Amino acid sequence: MDKVVLITGATRGIGKQIALTLAKEGYNIALNFRTENEDLTKTKEEIESIGVQCLSVKGDVSNFEECENIVKQTIDKFGKIDVLVNNAGMTKDMLLMRMKKEDFEQVIDVNLVGTFNMTKNVISHMLKARNGRIINISSVVGISGNAGQTNYSASKAGIIGFTKSLAKEVASRNILVNAVAPGFIQTNMTDVLKEEVKEEIAKTIPLKRMGKPEDVANVVKFLASEDSSYITGQVINIDGGMLM
Ligand code: NAD
Repeated sequence: MDKVVLITGATRGIGKQIALTLAKEGYNIALNFRTENEDLTKTKEEIESIGVQCLSVKGDVSNFEECENIVKQTIDKFGKIDVLVNNAGMTKDMLLMRMKKEDFEQVIDVNLVGTFNMTKNVISHMLKARNGRIINISSVVGISGNAGQTNYSASKAGIIGFTKSLAKEVASRNILVNAVAPGFIQTNMTDVLKEEVKEEIAKTIPLKRMGKPEDVANVVKFLASEDSSYITGQVINIDGGMLM
């Protein structure tokens, strides 16, 4: 396998697990990070110990020029990008009554505009290659909504519209664009919730547990693989049956 995947925000949580899972499949990994820290060093070492190449590229996905540079560095190193995973994301939860305009804009800028910035810079390479997979990490709250998350839900719903529209634009060039919508997954993002809250949430999930990053990474692996070559413009919920 000489395939290359570029994953944003991949030093921890779901992004890291996607990197490890695809590395085990033999993909070379371009790993985007925003700030240099221990997580980055550890993740890069873990990926390399699997026996594939790992390029780490610094950049903030909400900044178009930095995304241009992330993609350029990846192409300079590997010559192509077979799969783009738009994983970088953030929350800034607050009821709308008290939400500051900056907090609304920042979440949209990172989650939704970031997905545009990265995809826009990658798509020309995929169009030339007449091949590619784009996998966007949305969320179940982009479908259902969630009190306290107007900014986050709007960004994740926007990603779904973006995914379907782009899937229609590029299908004729053999580029498949899909999204996954995770429910409650155990990562830093959900660690902020109190233990009692997590237990209450787990009770409402038909499978009675929170998800693991592996639960998401395995579906991303499928969407990147030849096994999903007739699937595009879809949103796959990974939520233990929370939303039906
Ligand atoms: P996380 O906070 O551990 O990971 C998010 C990653 O994105 C971090 O590495 C962070 O540094 C990076 N990031 C944030 N802003 C960035 C920016 N501007 N530029 C580059 N990188 C940036 O959380 P996670 O749970 O692993 O989240 C991964 C994705 O999954 C996110 O898009 C999140 O919205 C989505 N998601 C998570 C859950 C969940 O329950 N954990 C549920 C649904 C969707």
